Amino acid sequence: MSLSHIFVLYGLSNLSLGGWFGEQGKGLLVELVVASILLAIIYAVIRKARKTWAIWGSVVGIIFLAVMFMVGPVFISPIFNDYTSLKDGPLKSEILSMARANGVPADNVYQFDASRQSKRISANVSGLLGTTRISLNDNLLNRSSEATIKAVMGHEMGHYVLNHGPKMLLSFGLVLVFGFAFVKWGFRRFNRPQWGVRDETDIAGLPLLGILFSTYFFIMTPVTNSIIRINETEADLYGLNASGEPEGFSEGILSLSEYRKMKPGYWEEILFYDHPSGYNRIYASMRWRAEHLPSFRDPTDARQ
Ligand SMILES: [Zn+2]
Repeated sequence: MSLSHIFVLYGLSNLSLGGWFGEQGKGLLVELVVASILLAIIYAVIRKARKTWAIWGSVVGIIFLAVMFMVGPVFISPIFNDYTSLKDGPLKSEILSMARANGVPADNVYQFDASRQSKRISANVSGLLGTTRISLNDNLLNRSSEATIKAVMGHEMGHYVLNHGPKMLLSFGLVLVFGFAFVKWGFRRFNRPQWGVRDETDIAGLPLLGILFSTYFFIMTPVTNSIIRINETEADLYGLNASGEPEGFSEGILSLSEYRKMKPGYWEEILFYDHPSGYNRIYASMRWRAEHLPSFRDPTDARQ
């Protein structure tokens, strides 16, 4: 990450410069702890299964991602933001009613103070098994109409109901298997005797391992972006059906234009976007509305 990149990110933020570096520091600390544990396990696997570690490494990777999905919202997110129960009222009842109607097992709705960090609106239905929870950020609550909030919640519930969590784990597991196989091949291909690194079990080879791994994931960006983007497109359609709020959803998408380019080129979207473009999301909403026009008509209107 270059210095100018850091300041571009900072420009989107609501934090003071000191506060921003504090947040980054906390993030680094969490990453350091998590990465060290993961690295120790991966090296143990490489040493135990010299021939088949690409497969076992991916299994570890998937289990790790699943654990992060489960503990993340409960233990890691609160390090960065304060989570409180959304106050009782019509909005909370509507969200919980939507959750029941869509089979989302949640009996509370949380809000968190994302406005500390930025002006972005967002929400999520996160966790797995027993840790499922619905959270809205305060930007969404303060900046959006009720229609937009319902539309965004419909989208997030879509991720849950369509099992995007487990499906993503499997897809990324597949990407990981090829990644580890590439790293294994690359290590033997590029390791030089004068470096004094025995083989991939040697911790001194970590820099080479890291370069190979990041090269692989850089090349795979269009694939990983597309895996996510396809899920996002599905969640958009699910959300429209669940909430019936095409205008509300479009308004929410419009507010994302503060930091996302709305109408990229065809290939630009496929290669670089991990969400559908704003243009396509609003287009899908208006298409949904056009196809549902009869149900928007006033039944007492005699001219129809
Ligand atoms: Zn989404």
